[in-house]
Amino acid sequence: MKTSEVVQAWGKILRGQQPSLSIEITKECPLKCPGCYAYDDGHLGGGTTLRSLTDRKGQELIDGVLETVDRLKPLHLSLVGGDPLVRYREVETMVPLLLARGIHVQVVTSAFRKIASEWADMEHLSVVVSIDGLQPDHDIRRAPATYDRILKNIEGQHITIHSTITGQMMKQPGYLEKFLQFWTPRPEIRKVWFSLFTPQIGDSMPEILTREERLRAMQELLDLRVRYPKVDMAKGLIEQFATPPHTPDDCVFARTTQVLTADFKTKVTPCQYGGKPDCEQCGCIASMGLAAVAAHKLWGVVPVGMIFRGSVAVGETWRKLAGGDEEQVPEPAFKVLQ
Ligand code: SF4
Ligand code: SF4
Repeated sequence: MKTSEVVQAWGKILRGQQPSLSIEITKECPLKCPGCYAYDDGHLGGGTTLRSLTDRKGQELIDGVLETVDRLKPLHLSLVGGDPLVRYREVETMVPLLLARGIHVQVVTSAFRKIASEWADMEHLSVVVSIDGLQPDHDIRRAPATYDRILKNIEGQHITIHSTITGQMMKQPGYLEKFLQFWTPRPEIRKVWFSLFTPQIGDSMPEILTREERLRAMQELLDLRVRYPKVDMAKGLIEQFATPPHTPDDCVFARTTQVLTADFKTKVTPCQYGGKPDCEQCGCIASMGLAAVAAHKLWGVVPVGMIFRGSVAVGETWRKLAGGDEEQVPEPAFKVLQ
């Protein structure tokens, strides 16, 4: 992230706004992944579920995304689902319009269908493809977005792989390295990110890593990032897996990212997982990345997290003074920061 972008993000926090926005643009997905949080009954807090919402299609969807972005003015936008490429025509139309607004756009997909060739080298656009493990495991979990299909659909692209490490994977020695040996030599792969499976409070399932598996995954990643430069995870980020936030209030990522679901109104809280995520077992790469930034000490003395918490408090006060409406917050005197 460039210094100017950090300053811009900080300015938004001071105004009581969230610099990142994620929109579940469709409730539809051709996959049925075990452990999928989007379709969990508790994802939207109980009562409403993603499947019961009315989502948009066609021009109505494009207009909805653009209107939301123009209103909330995020610096970074993630288009997620379901699978956003279920609405590929709309997404292909809206991406250039979003980039023209000067924001970074990330499309998170299973690559069950071909990725638009024009996206291969678009500046400020990231295509993130979820690949969960080696072919035999992935193909069972994520059919019809199988390895063969992904390989065809990413031809000519420069994508980021995002892989969620599960307890089952950590029970097989050398698993993560075999995964990197398969994917990193391919020219279509620009970066590889790993998260750890994040359960909801009270969950008991084989995907959950034991404490020992979690620490071992961390050690392996610290080693692999050196030997496989496409692993785009800083040492400080990986080390945060040992001490995830205790609660959503402690999570910089949750406090700086607004997540809207497919009706463009319902907020997914406290973070993209929705429901009651078990923060103490969180393995979200984005949460760990921002926790690493918060742990950094300016001039070796002042933790960035302390400044962040102060800035959030200022922003919340400013928003209350503005009547609590996040869209009507006036420009404060510290606009000069930007
Ligand atoms: S691709 Fe994503 S939204 Fe679709 S079932 Fe899998 S985890 Fe859920
Ligand atoms: S991203 Fe992780 S730490 Fe942050 S609120 Fe969600 S589960 Fe908790």
